[in-house]
Amino acid sequence: MTVEKRNPISVSSAIERVVNQNIVMTQTTVALHESINHILAEDIVATYDIPRFNKSPYDGFAIRSQDTVGANGDHRIKFNVIDHIGAGSVSEKTVGEFEAVRIMTGASIPEGADAVVMLEQTVESNQSFTLRKPFEANENISLKGEETREGDIVLQKGQQINPGAIAVLATYGYGEVPVFKKPTIAVIATGSELLDVTDNLQAGKIRNSNGPMIVALAQKLDLKVESYKIQQDDLKSSIQAVKEAMSYHDIVITTGGVSVGDFDYLPEIYAAIEAEVLFNKIAMRPGSVTTVAVADGKYLFGLSGNPSACFTGFELYVKPAVQHMMGAKAIYPQVVRATLMEDFKKPNPFTRFIRARATFNGKEMTVVPSGFNKSGAVVAIAHSNAMIMLPGGTRGYKKGYTVNVLLTESQSYEMEWQL
Ligand code: AMP
Ligand code: MG
Repeated sequence: MTVEKRNPISVSSAIERVVNQNIVMTQTTVALHESINHILAEDIVATYDIPRFNKSPYDGFAIRSQDTVGANGDHRIKFNVIDHIGAGSVSEKTVGEFEAVRIMTGASIPEGADAVVMLEQTVESNQSFTLRKPFEANENISLKGEETREGDIVLQKGQQINPGAIAVLATYGYGEVPVFKKPTIAVIATGSELLDVTDNLQAGKIRNSNGPMIVALAQKLDLKVESYKIQQDDLKSSIQAVKEAMSYHDIVITTGGVSVGDFDYLPEIYAAIEAEVLFNKIAMRPGSVTTVAVADGKYLFGLSGNPSACFTGFELYVKPAVQHMMGAKAIYPQVVRATLMEDFKKPNPFTRFIRARATFNGKEMTVVPSGFNKSGAVVAIAHSNAMIMLPGGTRGYKKGYTVNVLLTESQSYEMEWQL
């Protein structure tokens, strides 16, 4: 048996190939309260101005600015209070000369008034108050349309719905939101050495950790995910399992069996289902054998069985594919520059991804590998919030060098800044 020749492509071209597939989800609507993290399928246009009416940003008194001319500490001007309104109410009075309406934050500015005096700027007595400074027209007023005008595009098709977008949608009365469907994912761990999580250990066997990890990665993206039973390294039953998974899901992720070993059946499985293999070798470590194929409008991700490679493959290729399928505009992982805090001596024949911990130390982003970092490593994944990316053809990164770091999580352990 000859080992097939595989031509490595760069990480960026691999990602490009993945997201250039015409595999996209259809449009649907979801309830506003279930729309978080979905991708908007339509532009959202403001159907009215925000603010919708001139309103008070403070608790105070609505007055006519022209009545305050010449006010100062020695010459306090007196206003008579003719009405009192809270947020949600509208005064039926018109404010006349040296008159005021007591007004609370969020209430509509009454007719005649064009400024608001804060409570703290007045000395009150019965049904009246005095002030000691002049006010300009529109002072302390939130003007109608100052934030957004009717007809403005306030949210764009392809934008991921975040809590702020939920607030905007709520503002404009969207109980239902037009979005793209989310893909569902099937996870199949392959390998005759694999045991289920609760199985007793046996000689030569290991527990399937990739399966649960991929399920969790998908759950973090808020995707429905189904875990299939572990597949032995057996061609026939594995073809069946992949076919079955494809009939129910938009994405099928396998781990293991994607290399050139005697029992690595993924290449034959792709051939059997007539999938188009986008690439089967990437100039990266770990996970150079990561394979992505498409068939029947579905994505098939053949991730390496090595846990660190499996994780890296999901971050680099599955995540952008999911964003692409959902019609997102922002599909690529976020990368920052950081200072390496320890030497990394290994050469990098291929682009290297190192599970790492990135932190802002108050001055700059810093990063260190998050533990033992061979491709088979598991624990370092758990302690990582990022991956250091070292370009292929480089060697000997020293402490103090600046490196590119791909962020995989965003929360920090410590308060790294103070204001
Ligand atoms: P493979 O990609 O099948 O060549 O497997 C590469 C390495 O990853 C081998 O040491 C496997 O035993 C290990 N491995 C494969 N699948 C899994 C899995 N689901 N969980 C943990 N380790 C695995
Ligand atoms: Mg295997």
